[in-house]
Amino acid sequence: MTRPARAVIDLQALRHNLQRARRAAPASRIMAVIKADAYGHGLLQAAEALAHTDAFAVAGVPEAVQLREANITHPVLALQGFRTHDELAAASAHRVQVTLHHERQLQWLEDTGLEPSLEVWIKVDTGMHRLGFSLSELKTVYARVQRLPAVKSPPKLMTHLACADNPLNPATQQQLSRFDQAVASLSGEQSIANSAGVLAFPQSHRDWIRPGIMLYGASPYIDGDARRDGLQPVMTLTAPLIAIKHCQVGDALGYGGSFVCPEDMPIGVVAIGYGDGYPRHASTGTPVLVNGARAPLLGRVSMDMITIDLRHIDMPQVGEEVVLWGAQLSVDEVARHAGTIGYELLCHGGCSVRREFVDDSLL
Ligand SMILES: *Cc1c(COP(=O)(O)O)cnc(C)c1O
Repeated sequence: MTRPARAVIDLQALRHNLQRARRAAPASRIMAVIKADAYGHGLLQAAEALAHTDAFAVAGVPEAVQLREANITHPVLALQGFRTHDELAAASAHRVQVTLHHERQLQWLEDTGLEPSLEVWIKVDTGMHRLGFSLSELKTVYARVQRLPAVKSPPKLMTHLACADNPLNPATQQQLSRFDQAVASLSGEQSIANSAGVLAFPQSHRDWIRPGIMLYGASPYIDGDARRDGLQPVMTLTAPLIAIKHCQVGDALGYGGSFVCPEDMPIGVVAIGYGDGYPRHASTGTPVLVNGARAPLLGRVSMDMITIDLRHIDMPQVGEEVVLWGAQLSVDEVARHAGTIGYELLCHGGCSVRREFVDDSLL
């Protein structure tokens, strides 16, 4: 990639956050969620750095196979399970655990002549209404899975929390009680907690936790502060300052001219835009860091440039690196200015630009 922006990935911080998850749920095992290219941080590099996890989770079987081909031997769960008969065969061949959430998948399993080795997580829909069997279907599904020679018995049981991003929302407690009722008479390992569950709902920890966003040092909460939760940001997104202009009072900046200079002022142009995963909806006032000091974004985000206010920056230099988010400026704060969540910024930013990996413990 030849774009000037880059994402610096701090592997030591990634490991720190894994330990943070371990401390939060000391009685549980950890399935580190590295779907979406490890939330933009690099699937294989993240998997290697997180070697102390007990297992990994990815979205689909193909990513799990990619991990196997890179000689990663941990248990790996495909959270969406197999989408085709071929993926089922691949999961079995590569010892990939699969989520079972749909009647169609169950039929494929019933028709297959695979070796008796597949580890299956039955997904229960306790209120998210995305993937999973309904509470009323669960007992029959469980019995059918138990009869399958291809599946290691007992099957495991999981659900996903819909509203844990707000710890005050009573929906989470409701989902936990529904799950407990539904699985009361069923044996098998259990898993419920995403990052928000790990940090705020100890009753959700069970046998396996599934932390994602917290590993990357961003907050799972709507108004969260990852630092306060003991997390360290992993990705720092930077791009160079490529021009400094001296605008006059009344000059309108960029597309639509949505920002009009209230006085004569220095404007910086930074070589990053929505084509590099910087959010187009970041509004005037979104902070960036120049020389460690905050400068507000002005006007609209272009495809590969943004304009910033340099009035309060001491001696800005063309060529210096501007930080869009990272160790000193939380991705969650930037996300709030763009009407989105840190998850989206990390995925888009990390997947759009060149990644560089640093590992303090190796220095
Ligand atoms: C993405 C995902 C997680 C991780 O969620 P975070 O909020 O990033 O911690 C856990 N479980 C499932 C089923 C997921 O899809």
